Amino acid sequence: MRNNIVAGNWKMNLTFEQALQLANDLNAWATENKPTAKVIIAPTSIYLQAIQEIVDGDFVQVASQDVSNSEKGAYTGDISAEQLDSIGINCAIVGHSERREYQQETDAIIAQKLEQLFNKDITPILCVGEKLEERQAEKHFDVVKSQILNALNPQKAENLTKLVIAYEPVWAIGTGVTASPEQAQEIHAFIRSVLNETYGSEVAENTSILYGGSVNPSNAEELFSQKDIDGGLVGGASLKVEDFSQIIAAF
Ligand code: 13P
Repeated sequence: MRNNIVAGNWKMNLTFEQALQLANDLNAWATENKPTAKVIIAPTSIYLQAIQEIVDGDFVQVASQDVSNSEKGAYTGDISAEQLDSIGINCAIVGHSERREYQQETDAIIAQKLEQLFNKDITPILCVGEKLEERQAEKHFDVVKSQILNALNPQKAENLTKLVIAYEPVWAIGTGVTASPEQAQEIHAFIRSVLNETYGSEVAENTSILYGGSVNPSNAEELFSQKDIDGGLVGGASLKVEDFSQIIAAF
C-alpha cells in the first residue's frame, strides 16, 4: 500500500530562527491533529539536525533537499548519503528542476544520486516534469518517461520499494499556475503505467506519486482526490504553517 504524503520543500528560504519556529509550529499542529498523510519537511541542509531534534518523527519527518552523486572524498561542498544517514536523515529530494536548471544536473547524475540513496536505504523523492515549451509541443509524456527511465537505470524492481516520485511541471513551479486536476491525474496515471511496464505492478502500485507546482490550500483537496495523486511536494505554501497545515488536512 502506498502512503499519502505531503512534503514541504523549503528551498533556500528562512533564517535559522525562522526555520526553528516554523518546524516547532508545524510539529505542534501535527502532534495535535494527527494527520492521516505522512508529513515531510526539507529545510536547508545546515538546519537538518537541529530540526530533526525538535520534531516528533512519528508526525513530521525531515528530508534533505539533495544528496551528492559521489560516495565520499574530495567533493567540496557536497553532502553524501552516508553523512545524511549518520545524522538520522532517511529521505532526500533528488532531481528537482531547479537543480537540473541551475546546477546542470543531468539524468545520469540523478541516476548516480539515486544509487547513493538506495545504497543507504534512504527514501528518494525523485522529481520529474516538463518545461512549458515541452508541454506546448505535446512532448510532456516523452520527457517525463525518459526522465524516469534514465534516473532509475540501472535499478532493479527490488530496490524500488521506497521510491517516491514527484511530478512537478516546471511551468507550474512558483508561478501560481497549477496543473488542473485532470492534467495532473493524466500524467500521474501515465507515470504509474511506465513503472508498471518497466518494473511490474508491485512497484507501480506501491510508489507514491506526488504533485508539485503551486499547490495551495484552495487547490489541494481537488488535486489529492485524484486516483493517482498520492500527495504533494509544496514549495511556497510550505513556508507558512497556516497554509501548509491546511494542505496536509486536505487528505
Ligand atoms: P511551489 O509550490 O512554490 O510552486 O514550488 C513547488 C516545488 O518546486 C516544490 O519542490
